[in-house]
Amino acid sequence: MAEHGRRRYLGVVDLGGSKILSVVADEEGRILAEDRRATEADEGPEAGLERIAASLEAALASAGLGREDLRAAGVCSPGPIDRARGLLPEASNLPGWIDVPIRQYLSDRLDVPAVLEHDATAAAYGEFVYGAGRGYRHIVYLTVSTGIGGGLVLDGRLYRGATGAAGELGHITIDADGPLCFCGKPGHVEGLCSGRAIAGQAEAVLARGGSPPMARLAEEDGGLTAATVHRAAEAGDPEAIRILQRAGYYLGIGLAAYVDIFNPEVIIIGGGLRHIRDHYLGPAEEEMARRAMAESLKAVRLVEVELGDYSGIMGVVALLREGAATA
Ligand SMILES: [Zn+2]
Repeated sequence: MAEHGRRRYLGVVDLGGSKILSVVADEEGRILAEDRRATEADEGPEAGLERIAASLEAALASAGLGREDLRAAGVCSPGPIDRARGLLPEASNLPGWIDVPIRQYLSDRLDVPAVLEHDATAAAYGEFVYGAGRGYRHIVYLTVSTGIGGGLVLDGRLYRGATGAAGELGHITIDADGPLCFCGKPGHVEGLCSGRAIAGQAEAVLARGGSPPMARLAEEDGGLTAATVHRAAEAGDPEAIRILQRAGYYLGIGLAAYVDIFNPEVIIIGGGLRHIRDHYLGPAEEEMARRAMAESLKAVRLVEVELGDYSGIMGVVALLREGAATA
């Protein structure tokens, strides 16, 4: 009996800039246990790798399992990643993490084959296999959050491109002379429509003494984020509404480009900003409809993620089930 349960389980970690989520799943992709803890990225990559492994081991322990029960392990992380070598070359939200051999570390420590995947790519695949993309073959996944990321499933297959960098939908140019994106280039979707961009525009309004109600909310929140701007807009603040609608307008220009290039059946929207319907996603959808080609528009629907925080995790689970991990 003792051998019966051995090496049947999958361990998956979603590594974020601020938090780590680890799960243990069975062969059918059912999650048995999880562990959440802070990334503490500023403690450096060695401490970080230790925390990632400890988190996965904690999830195993709460499922009543040990590392000897694992068949494979996987991590998804914000890009850029070097998937072929299993390295985090330079993750922008993990300062000081350069060329971190995360796949090899996990593989050695847990004595299993492992895989490293880009988080938005993984999320696209997770939604395709288990979530809002089930039954479709042509999917654009877009996460609208602090930043804006994307992933593509084309003709029923995960599309990674020549170097694994395909789907950077936040970094297409939609305003040639627009403000600098956080990647340093002008007029990108992310530089105009992300949570960080929205907060930056609101800060500029407050800096010139505009919108006292939003300033009060920012004080209550102990800082200004897109969530603050959203609250101000819901309370009827005209500056907050204008900022969100402008961001939505630009997002719609991006969406129209995705529609025309990929002719998807669904665009699946993830990330915290997906909840801002009235003044952000609504205007985005209208602008998309104004700009995209009629033939492609007929086929496409804008839908929300179904897996919430677990899109990326479930994408890696699906990839591990298909044997993506290497020793
Ligand atoms: Zn950019």
